[in-house]
Amino acid sequence: MKMYEIQDVTFELKKYEFSEPFRITGWIHNEAENVDVKVVLKSGKIGMGEASPSYRVNGEKVSALMALQKDVKEMLIGSDVRNYRRIFEIMDGFSRTAPSVKAAVQYAILDSLSMATEMPVYQMLGGSKSEIKIDKTVGIDELNKMVEKAKRFYHEEGYETLKIKVGENLKEDVRKILAISDATKGASYVVDANQGYSVKEAIQFANATYENGVNIVVFEQPVIWNNLDGLKILRYNSPIPIAADESAKTKYDVYELIRNGCVDFINIKLMKSGISDALSIVELAKTTDTGLMIGCMSESSLGISQSVHFAAGIGAFAYHDLDSHMLLKERGFRGKFKQEGELIKL
Ligand SMILES: [Mg+2]
Repeated sequence: MKMYEIQDVTFELKKYEFSEPFRITGWIHNEAENVDVKVVLKSGKIGMGEASPSYRVNGEKVSALMALQKDVKEMLIGSDVRNYRRIFEIMDGFSRTAPSVKAAVQYAILDSLSMATEMPVYQMLGGSKSEIKIDKTVGIDELNKMVEKAKRFYHEEGYETLKIKVGENLKEDVRKILAISDATKGASYVVDANQGYSVKEAIQFANATYENGVNIVVFEQPVIWNNLDGLKILRYNSPIPIAADESAKTKYDVYELIRNGCVDFINIKLMKSGISDALSIVELAKTTDTGLMIGCMSESSLGISQSVHFAAGIGAFAYHDLDSHMLLKERGFRGKFKQEGELIKL
């Protein structure tokens, strides 16, 4: 049946401003340049995906991604989306050079099949959950501003898990986390240093916060991505769970991290791994009793929708750090989900 065949694949560059500058270790984000990927089937059904490239993590620039449009179209045209694993394999060739395009195309393929079969993507992927809870992120700022934001997110907006960015100054960071913890008693914290600490600093941070009773559930990427030995030393000297984010891009990276005992948690992002490697990473983690969280780059509601459907379908994530759409100015909401504060429903 030709109606499931791919007739066209198009890329469209989209720019979004952040509502306010978003600061993490060593970087301030003011705008995001993303790519909408549209897959059109012979039947006229359309599937959408979004690439949110990260130069910082993946070395991707949007101009390079846009240049791939012609090749991707030529490679996929005529493929039957019911055999989506075959298409995933074609896109796996972009794992190292354009992982966000791989993710967007793989998702757009699933979305087109979903539109053709009237089965939501989260159910095509297993339908484990029909709702998930997300966290909300407090970027690096002055202490009082971080505390005010944390209080608003926890007490007024009802987010039980807060993501806190640290990594630029150990002593200040400890002061900030203690102040936030005092002001938001009962909350859980995912703390992300974005590679900002040395191994020794990370151990000091973990001990200082733990001894003061701060409820840090995950300590994300404290040290530089390629320091696997450092991550392992940290893991066995830290009272709180250690997660890899920037260290964990492909399934091969995660295999090395787990095989070497470097981490308690993996932060999966579709923009690093695509759907195909994310599926492999989930199975690796489940097989080895490694914790899982899911995160995002600077996706709009379209890209967050991808991760929401993936996370709900798979149902394996302890924490859903899927809030980038709330940091961006976006004209219209394009997610295939409903959101009430921290609760996301499909
Ligand atoms: Mg991170």
